[in-house]
Amino acid sequence: MPFPLPLRPLPAPRETVLSYLSRFAAMNAAEMSDFSIDLGHQIRRFLDLETAALDCLAEAAGLEPAIRDELASWTGVPAGDVRMAFRGEAFVSRALRNPVMRGCPLCLQEDAQATPGHPERLMAMRGDWLLRSVNICCRHHHPLVPLW
Ligand SMILES: [Zn+2]
Repeated sequence: MPFPLPLRPLPAPRETVLSYLSRFAAMNAAEMSDFSIDLGHQIRRFLDLETAALDCLAEAAGLEPAIRDELASWTGVPAGDVRMAFRGEAFVSRALRNPVMRGCPLCLQEDAQATPGHPERLMAMRGDWLLRSVNICCRHHHPLVPLW
């Protein structure tokens, strides 16, 4: 597979690695798990933010190292057994990893309206929505709602 791929999304502000990978896969008409394997890594390695997987994602997407690091910083990088680094701060993992994914409906609505018919181009999950202690959108002051 020649890198960078011709179809690749622009990273959105505060976007997580998995959101970006998901949009990247959708843009290339693939499921995220299949696309991960096509990039050379099981999806678990992207979920765990393994350096080799992130480097491969950056190469495939033509991302500069600073942009790759920005995506990782909004996702939370494992730092030991139960800690994560998130935006330069240390958190316990459960503060960032929640079985219920939440989001701001107004942010997602704006994303969808900006690229009608092509949500993969801009509709992104924001890293600040991962924090259990965050309950409102920092931009709209709208309560975060469960998405799935
Ligand atoms: Zn919002």
